[in-house]
Amino acid sequence: MKDCIFCKIAKRETSAEVIYKDDKFIAFKDVNPKAPIHFLIIPKKHIPSVDHLKNRDKKLIGELFLVAQKIARKQGVAKSGYKLVFNVGKGGGQLINHLHLHLLGGWKTIKERDIPGMP
Ligand code: AMP
Ligand code: ZN
Repeated sequence: MKDCIFCKIAKRETSAEVIYKDDKFIAFKDVNPKAPIHFLIIPKKHIPSVDHLKNRDKKLIGELFLVAQKIARKQGVAKSGYKLVFNVGKGGGQLINHLHLHLLGGWKTIKERDIPGMP
């Protein structure tokens, strides 16, 4: 897809801090991180958003989660825990219209007493 910044990163036409790549996916550091660890994992194939997924993308999306798991383990956040987030569409806060999974983590472990509602 022409003029898509994430397609350009996937084709290595635009630079990014790439932390993982294989034949179908590429992951890189978010340029404006919202957590101590913040990666974006994208399929190389241009799919605008989760709302555009088709039946034929089932396998790809399953694999995307396994890539996220692999990255979380490699980056040392699997044990402490992490968030996986898809923003979908304008109202969902999606700014880049190339499907991407946010992997966020690396916060200090939350103590039970810091959780609202816990005695
Ligand atoms: P979203 O709001 O879900 O579309 O997220 C887009 C994310 O992409 C934001 O967190 C941005 O900081 C990040 N971003 C935008 N351009 C780049 C870029 N060239 N390299 C790395 N991250 C980017
Ligand atoms: Zn794209």
